[in-house]
Amino acid sequence: MTAARGGAVYLVGGGPGDPGLITTRALELVASADSILHDRLIPPGILAAAREAAELVDVGKVPGKAEVAQEEIEAMLIDRARAGLAVVRLKGGDPFVFGRGGEEAEALAAAGVPFEVVPGVTAGIAAPAYAGIPLTHRDDASAVAFVTGHEDPSKSESALDWDALARFPGTLVVYMGVRRAGEIAAALIAAGRDPEEPAAAIERGTLPAQRTVTATLAELQAAIAAAELRPPAIVVSGAVAARREALAWLERRPLAGRTVVVTRARAQASELADRLRALGAAVVELPAIRIEPRIDSEEVKAAVANLHAYALVCLTSANGASLLFEAMEAQARDARALAAATVAAIGPGTAAALRERGIIADVMPERFVAEALAEALEPVPIAGKPVLVARAAEARDVLPDALRARGAEVDVVALYETVAEAPDPEAAEAALDADYLTFTSSSTVRSFAAVLDDRRPTRPRVVSIGPITSEAARAAGLDVVVEAERSDIDGLVAALVEDASTQRVAG
Ligand code: SAH
Repeated sequence: MTAARGGAVYLVGGGPGDPGLITTRALELVASADSILHDRLIPPGILAAAREAAELVDVGKVPGKAEVAQEEIEAMLIDRARAGLAVVRLKGGDPFVFGRGGEEAEALAAAGVPFEVVPGVTAGIAAPAYAGIPLTHRDDASAVAFVTGHEDPSKSESALDWDALARFPGTLVVYMGVRRAGEIAAALIAAGRDPEEPAAAIERGTLPAQRTVTATLAELQAAIAAAELRPPAIVVSGAVAARREALAWLERRPLAGRTVVVTRARAQASELADRLRALGAAVVELPAIRIEPRIDSEEVKAAVANLHAYALVCLTSANGASLLFEAMEAQARDARALAAATVAAIGPGTAAALRERGIIADVMPERFVAEALAEALEPVPIAGKPVLVARAAEARDVLPDALRARGAEVDVVALYETVAEAPDPEAAEAALDADYLTFTSSSTVRSFAAVLDDRRPTRPRVVSIGPITSEAARAAGLDVVVEAERSDIDGLVAALVEDASTQRVAG
């Protein structure tokens, strides 16, 4: 999408908030745009997909101004497209549902600017779905109406015919209506809608903080006020709202309502974070460390040049496995360089990283710590033989010591170093208030503790991946309450879920 192809505007729906509900097309366009003009209500993190050089303009909120005027937005779109840019106009939900996308498309058409419309998952469908409310149902509703609640129903010049809506034979879905829920319900009831009809309001639908209240139409306003629901929220009125009782699935996920902090390095955090999110947790990513490869060092180069000579090659992390292969590639070597060696992996993450590169580990212990790997290697004859332990710079010496004690000639090389990552202050504050703090290595514990100085979080329950990490956490003054039985991501997630099942969700 470059200027050479001529400018165009893409009216893109970003979906209701959950990053998983962004379409593939939307993501492609965000990733290739020259310029992105976006609203306030767009999925968190979506702009991270933009090119570094892309211009990002928040037209929903400009400092000092309430918002950019509609004509101004339209002029900005036209100017940029005429300058040859690929312009994404990014909106929440769907661009053609209460998003003024129609007006913008008209302005573009009038100006002769090419445009494309990318539909999005609209909040009026997504929020009820996440609340367990089917908008249609064979028994309850054969039609749905999407309604704006923006207008004052008591205004005589209101564009909405509330009498007709009261008679509408199906589900009413009201956008922008929480603040006026009382007036809307009153107008509908006055026009003949059943005051006892089931209704619901869903705040921040599909986001981690989603909240839902249900009540009869007559009592909805009181329920909204009691729960202090605020925009953005969707109001649903119709018999289908009563189905939430049986179908509320979101709140029943094992980690619903829990905030969990992930302190792993950014490059490694996503697997754990995704797993936790899928179980319903709100995840705060607070990377405490960063991985600095060291594969250009003389010791690594020498070990790789000599790789075919080792009888045993031990890898103690997935990072190590990936970086060893990077170092091999730099010398035009591939998996065949390991053909003669016994290859040992400390755990399933490491073994998986090896498998991706065509090596099936010969040895993997049952517990994923250095002591257990040393034990598992006992049947492997190594006396007098060259052995390579490729690992992090700051790792413990348990494994090399054990191998040396058995007469092996052990080369230890550092493939990478873990260095402390400067924390995002906002995430650090959020961490103190979280329900769980997770640690997957001693180095993350130490960096995290250094970030906090003397402060130690008292509220979050501390979860550790295994005994070595727990020890480091206790040494840093953190009270470890959950330790994974299996020292890997599966084990950590399982232990956390098990603990959460015994802890009430804070109200
Ligand atoms: N084009 C958007 C709607 C824009 S109007 C779409 O298709 O979803 C803004 C209104 O949308 C808000 O006032 C609220 O009623 C609704 N809305 C947007 N995001 C929401 C969310 N995550 N949860 C509940 N309502 C939401």
